[in-house]
Amino acid sequence: MVLKVHNTLTREMEEFIPLNGNKVNMYVCGPTVYDHCHLGHARSYVSFDVIRRYLSYKGYDVNYISNITDVDDKVIERARESGEDPLELADRFTQSFIDDMEELGVRVPDTQPRVTEHIPQIIEMIGALVDKGTAYATHRGNVYYDLESSEDMIGILSHQTVEGLLEGSGSRVEIEDDKRYQLDFVLWKSSPEDEPGWESPWGRGRPGWHIECSVMSMGYGSEQLDIHGGGLDLIFPHHEAEILQSESYTGKQPFSRYWLHNGFLTIDKEKMSKSLGNFFTIKEVLKKFPPSTVRFFIVNTHYRNNIDYSEEHLEEAGRAYERISNTVTNIKYAMEYASEEGDDFGLYEDVVEARRSFIESMDEDFNTRDALANIFVFTRKINSILSGKKASKEVLRNVLEFFMEIDQVLGILKESWQLSSGNRNEGLSDEEIEELIKLRDMARNEKDWNRADVIRDELKEKGIIIEDGKDGVRWKYV
Ligand code: AMP
Ligand code: ZN
Repeated sequence: MVLKVHNTLTREMEEFIPLNGNKVNMYVCGPTVYDHCHLGHARSYVSFDVIRRYLSYKGYDVNYISNITDVDDKVIERARESGEDPLELADRFTQSFIDDMEELGVRVPDTQPRVTEHIPQIIEMIGALVDKGTAYATHRGNVYYDLESSEDMIGILSHQTVEGLLEGSGSRVEIEDDKRYQLDFVLWKSSPEDEPGWESPWGRGRPGWHIECSVMSMGYGSEQLDIHGGGLDLIFPHHEAEILQSESYTGKQPFSRYWLHNGFLTIDKEKMSKSLGNFFTIKEVLKKFPPSTVRFFIVNTHYRNNIDYSEEHLEEAGRAYERISNTVTNIKYAMEYASEEGDDFGLYEDVVEARRSFIESMDEDFNTRDALANIFVFTRKINSILSGKKASKEVLRNVLEFFMEIDQVLGILKESWQLSSGNRNEGLSDEEIEELIKLRDMARNEKDWNRADVIRDELKEKGIIIEDGKDGVRWKYV
Protein backbone atom coordinates (compact mmCIF):
# COMPACT_ATOMS: atom_id res chain seq x y z
CA MET A 1 0.00 0.00 0.00
CA VAL A 2 1.17 3.50 -0.83
CA LEU A 3 1.85 6.05 1.89
CA LYS A 4 0.44 9.51 1.17
CA VAL A 5 1.36 12.62 3.11
CA HIS A 6 0.01 16.14 3.13
CA ASN A 7 2.79 18.44 1.98
CA THR A 8 2.49 22.07 3.12
CA LEU A 9 4.80 23.02 0.24
CA THR A 10 2.27 22.00 -2.40
CA ARG A 11 -0.82 21.90 -0.16
CA GLU A 12 -1.55 18.51 -1.74
CA MET A 13 -1.64 14.91 -0.63
CA GLU A 14 1.39 13.32 -2.26
CA GLU A 15 2.81 9.85 -2.49
CA PHE A 16 5.74 9.55 -0.09
CA ILE A 17 8.92 8.82 -2.02
CA PRO A 18 12.16 9.45 -0.12
CA LEU A 19 15.01 11.10 -1.98
CA ASN A 20 17.37 8.26 -1.28
CA GLY A 21 15.83 4.81 -1.50
CA ASN A 22 14.85 3.47 1.87
CA LYS A 23 16.57 6.13 3.96
CA VAL A 24 14.42 8.86 5.51
CA ASN A 25 16.07 11.96 6.90
CA MET A 26 13.51 13.59 9.14
CA TYR A 27 13.97 16.80 11.10
CA VAL A 28 11.53 18.22 13.64
CA CYS A 29 12.01 21.62 15.27
CA GLY A 30 12.65 21.18 18.98
CA PRO A 31 11.61 23.39 21.87
CA THR A 32 13.07 26.63 23.16
CA VAL A 33 14.01 25.61 26.68
CA TYR A 34 13.25 28.57 28.92
CA ASP A 35 10.56 26.89 31.01
CA HIS A 36 8.86 23.52 31.50
CA CYS A 37 7.13 22.40 28.33
CA HIS A 38 3.35 22.57 28.10
CA LEU A 39 0.84 20.19 26.59
CA GLY A 40 1.02 21.99 23.22
CA HIS A 41 4.63 20.87 22.93
CA ALA A 42 3.61 17.33 23.84
CA ARG A 43 1.09 17.49 21.02
CA SER A 44 3.79 18.25 18.49
CA TYR A 45 6.36 15.72 19.68
CA VAL A 46 3.95 12.85 20.25
CA SER A 47 2.49 13.42 16.76
CA PHE A 48 5.89 13.32 15.09
CA ASP A 49 6.93 10.38 17.24
CA VAL A 50 4.01 8.39 15.81
CA ILE A 51 4.95 9.49 12.28
CA ARG A 52 8.54 8.41 12.86
CA ARG A 53 7.44 5.08 14.33
CA TYR A 54 5.07 4.42 11.44
CA LEU A 55 7.82 5.07 8.91
CA SER A 56 9.98 2.50 10.74
CA TYR A 57 7.02 0.11 10.80
CA LYS A 58 6.78 0.49 7.01
CA GLY A 59 10.40 -0.59 6.80
CA TYR A 60 12.09 2.78 6.23
CA ASP A 61 15.45 3.45 7.80
CA VAL A 62 14.60 6.64 9.66
CA ASN A 63 17.20 9.14 10.85
CA TYR A 64 15.29 11.42 13.24
CA ILE A 65 16.85 14.71 14.26
CA SER A 66 15.29 17.20 16.65
CA ASN A 67 17.16 20.17 18.06
CA ILE A 68 17.14 22.02 21.36
CA THR A 69 17.11 25.82 21.19
CA ASP A 70 19.15 26.59 24.28
CA VAL A 71 20.12 30.17 23.55
CA ASP A 72 17.54 32.75 22.59
CA ASP A 73 15.99 36.03 23.76
CA LYS A 74 13.42 34.24 25.91
CA VAL A 75 16.07 32.15 27.65
CA ILE A 76 18.11 35.28 28.37
CA GLU A 77 15.10 37.23 29.61
CA ARG A 78 13.96 34.42 31.92
CA ALA A 79 17.48 34.06 33.32
CA ARG A 80 17.65 37.77 33.98
CA GLU A 81 14.35 37.59 35.90
CA SER A 82 15.51 34.67 38.03
CA GLY A 83 19.13 35.74 38.40
CA GLU A 84 20.32 32.41 36.98
CA ASP A 85 23.02 31.85 34.38
CA PRO A 86 21.17 31.59 31.01
CA LEU A 87 23.02 28.50 29.87
CA GLU A 88 22.43 26.75 33.18
CA LEU A 89 18.77 27.64 33.05
CA ALA A 90 18.54 26.22 29.52
CA ASP A 91 20.30 23.08 30.67
CA ARG A 92 17.82 22.58 33.49
CA PHE A 93 14.82 22.94 31.19
CA THR A 94 16.41 20.72 28.54
CA GLN A 95 16.51 17.95 31.12
CA SER A 96 12.93 18.72 32.12
CA PHE A 97 11.88 18.36 28.47
CA ILE A 98 13.79 15.09 28.05
CA ASP A 99 12.10 13.71 31.20
CA ASP A 100 8.65 14.72 29.93
CA MET A 101 9.23 13.04 26.59
CA GLU A 102 10.37 9.86 28.30
CA GLU A 103 7.19 9.82 30.41
CA LEU A 104 5.10 10.20 27.28
CA GLY A 105 6.87 7.38 25.47
CA VAL A 106 8.39 9.69 22.84
CA ARG A 107 11.43 7.90 21.49
CA VAL A 108 14.73 9.69 21.89
CA PRO A 109 15.79 11.25 18.56
CA ASP A 110 18.78 9.70 16.81
CA THR A 111 20.39 13.09 17.29
CA GLN A 112 19.25 15.88 19.59
CA PRO A 113 21.72 18.68 18.89
CA ARG A 114 21.89 21.84 21.01
CA VAL A 115 22.52 25.23 19.47
CA THR A 116 25.24 26.24 21.91
CA GLU A 117 27.27 23.20 20.86
CA HIS A 118 27.19 24.18 17.16
CA ILE A 119 28.27 27.80 17.08
CA PRO A 120 31.32 27.27 14.76
CA GLN A 121 29.14 25.45 12.19
CA ILE A 122 26.54 28.23 12.39
CA ILE A 123 29.20 30.91 11.87
CA GLU A 124 30.52 28.94 8.90
CA MET A 125 27.13 28.82 7.21
CA ILE A 126 26.40 32.49 7.82
CA GLY A 127 29.86 33.36 6.44
CA ALA A 128 29.13 31.36 3.30
CA LEU A 129 25.83 33.20 2.81
CA VAL A 130 27.58 36.56 3.20
CA ASP A 131 30.18 35.45 0.62
CA LYS A 132 27.43 34.45 -1.78
CA GLY A 133 25.79 37.85 -1.37
CA THR A 134 22.51 36.50 0.02
CA ALA A 135 23.28 37.83 3.50
CA TYR A 136 24.72 41.13 4.70
CA ALA A 137 26.40 42.34 7.87
CA THR A 138 25.52 45.72 9.33
CA HIS A 139 27.45 48.34 11.30
CA ARG A 140 25.76 47.04 14.48
CA GLY A 141 27.34 43.61 14.20
CA ASN A 142 24.12 41.94 13.03
CA VAL A 143 23.89 39.75 9.94
CA TYR A 144 20.63 39.51 7.99
CA TYR A 145 19.41 37.33 5.20
CA ASP A 146 18.77 39.54 2.18
CA LEU A 147 15.28 38.76 0.98
CA GLU A 148 15.66 40.84 -2.13
CA SER A 149 18.08 38.17 -3.34
CA SER A 150 15.30 35.56 -3.18
CA GLU A 151 12.23 37.70 -3.77
CA ASP A 152 10.53 35.14 -5.98
CA MET A 153 10.67 32.62 -3.14
CA ILE A 154 8.83 34.69 -0.57
CA GLY A 155 5.65 32.85 0.38
CA ILE A 156 6.94 29.53 -0.96
CA LEU A 157 5.68 27.65 2.09
CA SER A 158 3.17 30.04 3.64
CA HIS A 159 1.53 30.64 0.24
CA GLN A 160 1.07 34.30 1.08
CA THR A 161 1.90 37.51 -0.72
CA VAL A 162 4.52 39.93 0.55
CA GLU A 163 1.73 42.33 1.59
CA GLY A 164 -0.07 39.58 3.47
CA LEU A 165 3.12 38.53 5.24
CA LEU A 166 3.99 42.06 6.23
CA GLU A 167 0.53 42.54 7.66
CA GLY A 168 0.22 39.19 9.39
CA SER A 169 3.76 38.67 10.62
CA GLY A 170 3.28 40.74 13.79
CA SER A 171 5.74 40.29 16.58
CA ARG A 172 7.53 37.29 15.06
CA VAL A 173 9.36 39.56 12.59
CA GLU A 174 12.21 41.37 14.26
CA ILE A 175 11.91 45.08 13.59
CA GLU A 176 15.41 46.50 13.56
CA ASP A 177 16.40 49.72 11.88
CA ASP A 178 19.63 48.37 10.44
CA LYS A 179 17.72 46.03 8.15
CA ARG A 180 17.51 46.84 4.47
CA TYR A 181 14.03 45.42 4.20
CA GLN A 182 11.45 44.62 6.86
CA LEU A 183 11.14 40.93 6.00
CA ASP A 184 14.91 40.35 6.11
CA PHE A 185 15.56 37.98 8.98
CA VAL A 186 18.43 37.90 11.38
CA LEU A 187 21.13 35.24 11.09
CA TRP A 188 23.57 36.62 13.64
CA LYS A 189 22.66 38.99 16.43
CA SER A 190 25.21 41.08 18.28
CA SER A 191 25.25 40.38 22.03
CA PRO A 192 25.93 42.91 24.76
CA GLU A 193 28.66 41.92 27.24
CA ASP A 194 26.18 40.80 29.89
CA GLU A 195 24.45 38.30 27.58
CA PRO A 196 25.71 35.00 26.16
CA GLY A 197 27.78 35.58 23.06
CA TRP A 198 30.52 34.07 20.91
CA GLU A 199 33.26 35.72 18.87
CA SER A 200 32.58 35.85 15.14
CA PRO A 201 33.81 37.74 12.05
CA TRP A 202 30.99 40.22 12.78
CA GLY A 203 31.83 40.71 16.43
CA ARG A 204 30.54 39.11 19.60
CA GLY A 205 27.06 37.73 19.12
CA ARG A 206 24.75 34.75 18.95
CA PRO A 207 22.77 32.97 16.27
CA GLY A 208 19.32 34.08 15.20
CA TRP A 209 16.68 31.41 15.58
CA HIS A 210 16.22 30.12 12.01
CA ILE A 211 19.81 29.37 11.06
CA GLU A 212 20.27 26.67 13.70
CA CYS A 213 17.78 24.31 12.06
CA SER A 214 19.49 24.53 8.66
CA VAL A 215 22.85 23.81 10.27
CA MET A 216 21.67 20.94 12.45
CA SER A 217 19.58 19.23 9.80
CA MET A 218 22.43 19.31 7.31
CA GLY A 219 25.03 18.37 9.91
CA TYR A 220 23.22 15.28 11.12
CA GLY A 221 20.95 14.47 8.21
CA SER A 222 21.51 15.59 4.70
CA GLU A 223 21.63 18.75 2.60
CA GLN A 224 18.19 17.70 1.45
CA LEU A 225 15.70 16.29 3.91
CA ASP A 226 12.81 13.97 3.22
CA ILE A 227 10.57 15.32 5.98
CA HIS A 228 10.70 18.53 7.92
CA GLY A 229 8.15 18.93 10.69
CA GLY A 230 6.91 21.35 13.29
CA GLY A 231 3.76 23.12 14.44
CA LEU A 232 1.65 25.23 12.11
CA ASP A 233 2.96 28.43 13.68
CA LEU A 234 6.45 27.66 12.39
CA ILE A 235 5.53 27.83 8.70
CA PHE A 236 6.29 31.52 8.63
CA PRO A 237 8.80 32.93 9.16
CA HIS A 238 10.80 30.04 10.63
CA HIS A 239 10.42 27.35 7.99
CA GLU A 240 10.38 29.72 5.06
CA ALA A 241 13.60 31.22 6.38
CA GLU A 242 15.10 27.74 6.64
CA ILE A 243 14.24 27.06 2.99
CA LEU A 244 15.75 30.31 1.72
CA GLN A 245 19.01 30.12 3.63
CA SER A 246 19.51 26.37 3.09
CA GLU A 247 18.84 26.43 -0.64
CA SER A 248 21.04 29.47 -1.05
CA TYR A 249 23.83 27.69 0.86
CA THR A 250 23.69 24.35 -0.94
CA GLY A 251 22.32 25.43 -4.31
CA LYS A 252 20.04 22.38 -4.07
CA GLN A 253 16.27 22.32 -4.19
CA PRO A 254 14.16 21.37 -2.38
CA PHE A 255 15.67 21.75 1.07
CA SER A 256 12.99 19.37 2.28
CA ARG A 257 10.85 17.25 0.03
CA TYR A 258 7.85 17.12 2.37
CA TRP A 259 6.83 19.67 4.97
CA LEU A 260 4.49 18.37 7.65
CA HIS A 261 2.80 20.61 10.21
CA ASN A 262 0.84 19.62 13.26
CA GLY A 263 -2.34 21.44 14.32
CA PHE A 264 -2.61 23.19 17.66
CA LEU A 265 -3.57 22.08 21.08
CA THR A 266 -6.05 24.75 22.05
CA ILE A 267 -7.88 25.90 25.15
CA ASP A 268 -11.25 27.46 24.43
CA LYS A 269 -10.24 27.38 20.77
CA GLU A 270 -7.09 29.43 21.38
CA LYS A 271 -3.60 28.03 20.87
CA MET A 272 -2.04 26.94 24.15
CA SER A 273 1.07 29.04 24.58
CA LYS A 274 3.37 30.52 27.15
CA SER A 275 2.84 34.01 25.85
CA LEU A 276 -0.96 33.85 26.23
CA GLY A 277 -0.58 32.33 29.69
CA ASN A 278 -3.28 29.72 28.92
CA PHE A 279 -1.08 26.70 29.40
CA PHE A 280 -0.74 23.59 31.51
CA THR A 281 2.69 22.07 31.74
CA ILE A 282 3.13 18.41 30.84
CA LYS A 283 4.14 17.77 34.44
CA GLU A 284 0.92 19.32 35.76
CA VAL A 285 -1.20 17.24 33.42
CA LEU A 286 0.71 14.05 34.25
CA LYS A 287 -0.07 14.57 37.93
CA LYS A 288 -3.74 14.14 37.09
CA PHE A 289 -3.72 11.70 34.21
CA PRO A 290 -1.54 8.68 33.38
CA PRO A 291 0.88 9.06 30.44
CA SER A 292 -1.07 6.50 28.40
CA THR A 293 -4.23 8.62 28.64
CA VAL A 294 -2.39 11.79 27.66
CA ARG A 295 -0.76 10.06 24.73
CA PHE A 296 -4.05 8.50 23.66
CA PHE A 297 -5.73 11.92 23.92
CA ILE A 298 -3.20 13.28 21.42
CA VAL A 299 -3.11 10.29 19.10
CA ASN A 300 -6.88 10.06 18.90
CA THR A 301 -6.91 13.16 16.68
CA HIS A 302 -5.34 13.46 13.24
CA TYR A 303 -2.04 15.31 13.62
CA ARG A 304 -3.14 18.18 11.36
CA ASN A 305 -6.33 18.93 13.28
CA ASN A 306 -6.57 21.03 16.40
CA ILE A 307 -7.31 19.36 19.75
CA ASP A 308 -9.21 21.28 22.35
CA TYR A 309 -7.91 20.69 25.86
CA SER A 310 -10.13 20.28 28.88
CA GLU A 311 -10.12 17.90 31.82
CA GLU A 312 -13.41 16.44 30.59
CA HIS A 313 -11.84 15.67 27.21
CA LEU A 314 -8.94 13.95 28.94
CA GLU A 315 -11.31 11.96 31.13
CA GLU A 316 -13.20 10.88 28.01
CA ALA A 317 -9.90 9.88 26.43
CA GLY A 318 -9.06 7.86 29.54
CA ARG A 319 -12.32 5.94 29.26
CA ALA A 320 -11.83 5.25 25.56
CA TYR A 321 -8.23 4.19 26.15
CA GLU A 322 -9.35 1.72 28.78
CA ARG A 323 -11.57 -0.01 26.26
CA ILE A 324 -8.41 -0.97 24.38
CA SER A 325 -6.16 -1.63 27.35
CA ASN A 326 -8.85 -3.74 29.08
CA THR A 327 -9.17 -5.83 25.95
CA VAL A 328 -5.44 -6.48 26.01
CA THR A 329 -5.61 -7.43 29.69
CA ASN A 330 -8.55 -9.72 28.97
CA ILE A 331 -6.66 -11.46 26.18
CA LYS A 332 -3.71 -12.07 28.46
CA TYR A 333 -6.03 -13.36 31.18
CA ALA A 334 -7.84 -15.65 28.74
CA MET A 335 -4.50 -17.00 27.52
CA GLU A 336 -3.75 -18.30 30.97
CA TYR A 337 -6.75 -20.61 30.87
CA ALA A 338 -7.00 -21.32 27.16
CA SER A 339 -5.97 -24.67 25.75
CA GLU A 340 -4.26 -25.40 22.47
CA GLU A 341 -7.39 -27.18 21.25
CA GLY A 342 -9.88 -24.28 21.35
CA ASP A 343 -11.54 -22.81 18.27
CA ASP A 344 -10.18 -19.81 16.36
CA PHE A 345 -13.59 -18.10 15.81
CA GLY A 346 -12.33 -16.51 12.62
CA LEU A 347 -9.86 -14.39 14.60
CA TYR A 348 -6.93 -15.16 12.28
CA GLU A 349 -8.82 -13.54 9.40
CA ASP A 350 -9.93 -10.72 11.69
CA VAL A 351 -6.32 -9.93 12.56
CA VAL A 352 -5.40 -9.86 8.88
CA GLU A 353 -8.29 -7.49 8.23
CA ALA A 354 -7.49 -5.33 11.29
CA ARG A 355 -3.88 -5.00 10.13
CA ARG A 356 -4.99 -4.11 6.61
CA SER A 357 -7.31 -1.36 7.85
CA PHE A 358 -4.68 -0.06 10.30
CA ILE A 359 -2.20 0.33 7.46
CA GLU A 360 -4.83 1.80 5.16
CA SER A 361 -5.65 4.52 7.70
CA MET A 362 -2.05 5.27 8.55
CA ASP A 363 -1.11 5.40 4.87
CA GLU A 364 -3.60 8.22 4.50
CA ASP A 365 -1.37 10.93 5.97
CA PHE A 366 -0.92 9.07 9.28
CA ASN A 367 -4.62 9.06 10.14
CA THR A 368 -4.39 7.80 13.71
CA ARG A 369 -7.97 8.84 14.38
CA ASP A 370 -9.32 6.41 11.77
CA ALA A 371 -6.81 3.76 12.78
CA LEU A 372 -8.08 3.86 16.37
CA ALA A 373 -11.71 3.86 15.26
CA ASN A 374 -11.03 0.59 13.42
CA ILE A 375 -9.27 -0.82 16.43
CA PHE A 376 -12.33 -0.13 18.56
CA VAL A 377 -14.42 -2.17 16.13
CA PHE A 378 -11.90 -4.99 16.41
CA THR A 379 -11.86 -4.87 20.22
CA ARG A 380 -15.66 -5.23 20.31
CA LYS A 381 -15.39 -8.43 18.30
CA ILE A 382 -12.63 -9.79 20.53
CA ASN A 383 -14.50 -8.96 23.71
CA SER A 384 -17.58 -10.78 22.48
CA ILE A 385 -15.45 -13.86 21.81
CA LEU A 386 -13.61 -13.65 25.10
CA SER A 387 -16.84 -13.65 27.06
CA GLY A 388 -17.68 -17.31 27.35
CA LYS A 389 -16.30 -18.91 24.21
CA LYS A 390 -13.11 -20.88 24.39
CA ALA A 391 -10.66 -19.54 21.87
CA SER A 392 -7.40 -21.44 21.40
CA LYS A 393 -4.25 -20.20 23.06
CA GLU A 394 -2.60 -19.95 19.68
CA VAL A 395 -5.19 -17.61 18.17
CA LEU A 396 -5.22 -15.46 21.30
CA ARG A 397 -1.46 -15.16 21.08
CA ASN A 398 -1.87 -14.08 17.48
CA VAL A 399 -4.30 -11.34 18.54
CA LEU A 400 -2.03 -10.22 21.36
CA GLU A 401 0.91 -9.99 18.99
CA PHE A 402 -1.17 -7.84 16.67
CA PHE A 403 -1.73 -5.38 19.52
CA MET A 404 2.00 -5.38 20.26
CA GLU A 405 2.67 -4.76 16.59
CA ILE A 406 0.45 -1.71 16.26
CA ASP A 407 1.65 -0.42 19.60
CA GLN A 408 5.12 -0.17 18.12
CA VAL A 409 3.54 2.71 16.20
CA LEU A 410 0.99 4.17 18.60
CA GLY A 411 2.94 3.64 21.82
CA ILE A 412 -0.16 3.83 24.01
CA LEU A 413 -0.16 0.44 25.68
CA LYS A 414 3.12 0.67 27.58
CA GLU A 415 1.39 0.00 30.88
CA SER A 416 -0.39 -3.07 29.51
CA TRP A 417 2.88 -4.70 28.56
CA GLN A 418 3.81 -4.83 32.20
CA LEU A 419 2.42 -8.31 32.20
CA SER A 420 1.02 -8.60 35.68
CA SER A 421 -2.45 -9.66 34.64
CA GLY A 422 -5.06 -9.31 37.34
CA ASN A 423 -3.87 -9.81 40.87
CA ARG A 424 -2.01 -13.00 40.22
CA ASN A 425 0.53 -13.84 42.83
CA GLU A 426 1.86 -17.01 41.32
CA GLY A 427 4.88 -16.94 38.99
CA LEU A 428 4.81 -16.56 35.23
CA SER A 429 4.36 -19.54 32.97
CA ASP A 430 7.16 -20.39 30.53
CA GLU A 431 5.04 -19.06 27.68
CA GLU A 432 4.46 -15.76 29.43
CA ILE A 433 8.16 -15.43 30.01
CA GLU A 434 8.86 -16.14 26.34
CA GLU A 435 6.16 -13.61 25.44
CA LEU A 436 7.80 -10.95 27.56
CA ILE A 437 11.20 -11.71 26.10
CA LYS A 438 9.73 -11.34 22.63
CA LEU A 439 8.26 -7.98 23.64
CA ARG A 440 11.62 -6.91 24.97
CA ASP A 441 13.28 -7.97 21.70
CA MET A 442 10.77 -5.91 19.75
CA ALA A 443 11.44 -2.93 21.98
CA ARG A 444 15.19 -3.35 21.51
CA ASN A 445 14.83 -3.64 17.75
CA GLU A 446 12.98 -0.36 17.84
CA LYS A 447 15.70 1.10 20.07
CA ASP A 448 13.07 1.66 22.75
CA TRP A 449 15.58 1.01 25.54
CA ASN A 450 13.23 2.31 28.14
CA ARG A 451 10.54 -0.20 27.47
CA ALA A 452 13.10 -2.97 27.09
CA ASP A 453 14.44 -2.12 30.55
CA VAL A 454 10.98 -1.99 32.09
CA ILE A 455 10.31 -5.51 30.82
CA ARG A 456 13.68 -6.81 32.04
CA ASP A 457 13.09 -5.27 35.48
CA GLU A 458 9.63 -6.73 35.62
CA LEU A 459 10.98 -10.18 34.89
CA LYS A 460 13.64 -9.70 37.54
CA GLU A 461 10.97 -8.79 40.07
CA LYS A 462 9.34 -12.13 39.32
CA GLY A 463 12.63 -13.89 39.91
CA ILE A 464 13.67 -14.34 36.28
CA ILE A 465 17.02 -13.27 34.95
CA ILE A 466 17.61 -12.82 31.25
CA GLU A 467 20.97 -13.05 29.59
CA ASP A 468 21.76 -11.67 26.16
CA GLY A 469 24.12 -14.08 24.46
CA LYS A 470 25.51 -14.64 20.98
CA ASP A 471 22.71 -17.09 20.20
CA GLY A 472 19.91 -14.90 21.46
CA VAL A 473 18.31 -14.38 24.81
CA ARG A 474 18.32 -17.04 27.53
CA TRP A 475 16.47 -16.94 30.79
CA LYS A 476 16.72 -18.63 34.13
CA TYR A 477 15.27 -18.44 37.61
CA VAL A 478 17.33 -16.57 40.14
P1 AMP B 1 8.49 26.45 20.73
O1 AMP B 1 9.32 26.01 21.89
O2 AMP B 1 7.45 27.46 21.08
O3 AMP B 1 9.34 26.85 19.55
O4 AMP B 1 7.65 25.19 20.24
C1 AMP B 1 8.21 23.96 19.89
C2 AMP B 1 7.25 23.19 19.00
O5 AMP B 1 6.00 22.99 19.67
C3 AMP B 1 6.90 23.93 17.69
O6 AMP B 1 6.85 23.00 16.63
C4 AMP B 1 5.55 24.51 17.98
O7 AMP B 1 4.80 24.70 16.79
C5 AMP B 1 4.93 23.42 18.83
N1 AMP B 1 3.84 23.96 19.65
C6 AMP B 1 3.92 24.96 20.57
N2 AMP B 1 2.70 25.21 21.10
C7 AMP B 1 1.84 24.34 20.50
C8 AMP B 1 0.44 24.08 20.63
N3 AMP B 1 -0.33 24.77 21.47
N4 AMP B 1 -0.11 23.11 19.87
C9 AMP B 1 0.66 22.39 19.03
N5 AMP B 1 1.97 22.57 18.85
C10 AMP B 1 2.56 23.55 19.59
ZN1 ZN C 1 13.40 24.88 13.45
